[in-house]
Amino acid sequence: MEIKTILAECGFGFKKQLGQNFITDKNLLASIVTASGVGENDEVVEIGCGAGTLTRALAERVKKVTAFEVDKTLQPVLERTLAGLDNAEVVFRDFLKVDLKEFEEKSGEYFVVANLPYYVTTPLIMKLIEDAEKCKGLSVMVQEEVAERLCAKAGTPEYGAITAMVALRAECAIVKRVPRTLFYPRPNVDSAVVKFTFGSGVGVKDKAAYKKAVHAAFSSRRKTLVNNLMNSYGLPRARAEEILTDCGIDLKARGETLTPKQFAILSEKL
Ligand code: SAM
Repeated sequence: MEIKTILAECGFGFKKQLGQNFITDKNLLASIVTASGVGENDEVVEIGCGAGTLTRALAERVKKVTAFEVDKTLQPVLERTLAGLDNAEVVFRDFLKVDLKEFEEKSGEYFVVANLPYYVTTPLIMKLIEDAEKCKGLSVMVQEEVAERLCAKAGTPEYGAITAMVALRAECAIVKRVPRTLFYPRPNVDSAVVKFTFGSGVGVKDKAAYKKAVHAAFSSRRKTLVNNLMNSYGLPRARAEEILTDCGIDLKARGETLTPKQFAILSEKL
C-alpha cells in the first residue's frame, strides 16, 4: 500500500518543527542505501526513521537496523510499514539525549544513516565526532548548502568550524544530490547525502585542545588568526605571533585558511 495512504489512514499529522519531510521514492531509497556503502554484515543505526521507508530499504540490505524516532505518533504507521521485518527495531527516543557510551556498551560496530532536520544534524554530527567509539561511518541527508559546508576545502567561504571539526575523525564527500521534489511534503530546499568515513581524519592527541583552537580561529571571521588567538587565549601579541611562526603559519592568515592538519599542529603548540 502507498505510504501516503497509510499515513492518512493512521490520521498522522506532519510536524513541521520536527522536519518531517519523508522519502517515498523507491529508487531514491535504494540509491541512498547503496551510496552509504552498507552491506549484509553491517549493523545500522538510523536516526529519525519517520514513516520507516528508509528503515525498510536498509533492513532489506543489512544485518540489523536500530531506528530512533522522537515522534511517538508515528508508532501505528511504523507497525504497518515495517511489518514482517525481523531485523528492524524502533526506539522512540530523541537520539540527541541518548547516552552514546551506554548505547555502545551493548552494540557492536555500526554505521549511522540519517535524514534529519538541519538543527538536529549539526549536534548529531558533533556527538558522533566527539563521543562515538564504534561508529564506522555516517551517511546523512542535509540541505545542499550544509553539505557544501561540511565538505568544503580550507580557504573557501563555505569552510567553517564544523568542517574543521569533522576532519578530526572523518573524511567526507557528497555522494548524492536529491531535489526537493522527491520529498513528501516538499521542502523549500534541495538536499544532498554526505558520507563520512570514520578513522580517516587528521587525528590529534587532545581533542578538546583542537576544538578550542578551531573555535578560537573562527570566533570572528573578520579578524586575523593572531587577533583571535590573543582574544581567546589571553595571549600578548608577541607570544601569539611566536606560536604561529613556530607552526609555519603566516602572521596575516585568517582562521578559515588553515587546513585541519594545521589546526592539529597549532592546537598542540597552544
Ligand atoms: N527517515 C525518514 C525518511 O527519510 O523518510 C524521515 C525523515 S524526516 C526528514 C526526519 C525525522 O526525524 C522525522 O520523523 C522526525 O520526527 C525525526 N526526528 C527529528 N528530531 C529527532 C531526534 N532528535 N531524534 C530522533 N528522531 C528525530
